[in-house]
Amino acid sequence: MADAALIGVTVLGATGSIGRSTLDVLGRHRDRYRVVALTANSQVDRLCEQCLEHRPDYAVMADAAAAERLAERLRAEAPEITVLAGMAGLEQVAALPEADYVMAAIVGAAGLTPTLAAARAGKRVLLANKEALVMSGRLFMDAVQQSNAVLLPIDSEHNAIFQCMPAGFADGFARVGVRRILLTASGGPFRTTPLEQLATVTPEQAVAHPNWSMGRKISVDSATMMNKGLEVIEACWLFNTTPAQVQVVLHPQSVIHSMVEYVDGSVLAQLGNPDMRTPIAHALAWPERMDSGVSSLDMFAVARLDFSAPDLNRFPCLRLAVEAMEAGGTSSAILNAANEVAVESFLQRRIAYTAIPQVIEAVLAETTAHGAESLEQILADDAAARAAAERQVTLRDTKH
Ligand code: NAD
Ligand code: MG
Repeated sequence: MADAALIGVTVLGATGSIGRSTLDVLGRHRDRYRVVALTANSQVDRLCEQCLEHRPDYAVMADAAAAERLAERLRAEAPEITVLAGMAGLEQVAALPEADYVMAAIVGAAGLTPTLAAARAGKRVLLANKEALVMSGRLFMDAVQQSNAVLLPIDSEHNAIFQCMPAGFADGFARVGVRRILLTASGGPFRTTPLEQLATVTPEQAVAHPNWSMGRKISVDSATMMNKGLEVIEACWLFNTTPAQVQVVLHPQSVIHSMVEYVDGSVLAQLGNPDMRTPIAHALAWPERMDSGVSSLDMFAVARLDFSAPDLNRFPCLRLAVEAMEAGGTSSAILNAANEVAVESFLQRRIAYTAIPQVIEAVLAETTAHGAESLEQILADDAAARAAAERQVTLRDTKH
């Protein structure tokens, strides 16, 4: 029987990089948390293994055929686990009464509907799936407010900003004495690569991040700095501000995870080893603190911290993201959809690395944005942008 004194946690995207780090932290605190549901797209073997270790009540596979295979495997070894399939299953476990916390760690637009379901159900939402917030901004923040959900950022920068922010920041920076956010960025694997070589970099080079080990999509986003662009948008929604108040700072060591500057000139920073278990443990335990398994930061090994301004010629995706946020409405959803298609096409070697921003810019120019008041409108413009991006990719397809 489940112990009602334990905090129930659903992990959306359990088999991914963030999902696995979350289960590592939860596994260290079995006296405090219990896993209620685990979900994955199609990785049956890994989800099965996780189910046997963490014994959730539910396991969901987005892919129906994969759900069949998982159900068959679990019938023999853990028949008490209910297996669900598809988007309906993901939404159901995001809103279960016994799930107090929901880790939103699905990658990309696929995570929007279940993450929004968790917000609408008033959960503590641990938000790793930045694309969901980029797509649905106002709608998502309104859902959080209306349902009294607690939204805590897992993205290391936003978790750092949250830790450095004063109470009451949601009322606006001026009221709490904050001047701006300093959002740090490593610059990724191509920070110093000669510009003329960028056209021929490979997916293997792009996913080899110098400091962080992450899923493939976010790794490519880090190389193009679209990740930082999405994070500027994410910061604007989470901290109720505008891109003008968010300064991106290149900081190749990834030791400072971001900073908050106050009107008196104070700058508060959060530092640590680049290990996502720190923000995960922070958001799980908040407002308390607990062990994450992350080792002490060795300041003597770090020795020095460097900072510089980002070069928008090298990183046009950063400019495109800020422009989309300023344009408002579904522009950010269009940007995000075009980026997802462009990144996947680059990973499949259909387009060059340097075609990624070209595809996105062309899609933004040809797709009409609307007000982002409803999920239906957001998903419609996401679909239109994906179709436009497919056409733009075909025009540039190097496999012709
Ligand atoms: P990942 O690719 O390692 O894992 C993605 C997870 O989502 C997997 O469990 C996969 O099964 C699931 N998934 C993929 N497509 C799906 C679909 N169509 N339907 C349902 N489930 C699906 O990705 P990740 O690196 O863990 O990143 C997850 C999210 O966290 C992303 O939004 C990323 O931007 C964000 N994030 C990651 C890191 C990091 O260090 N990895 C840091 C900050 C933010
Ligand atoms: Mg980040």
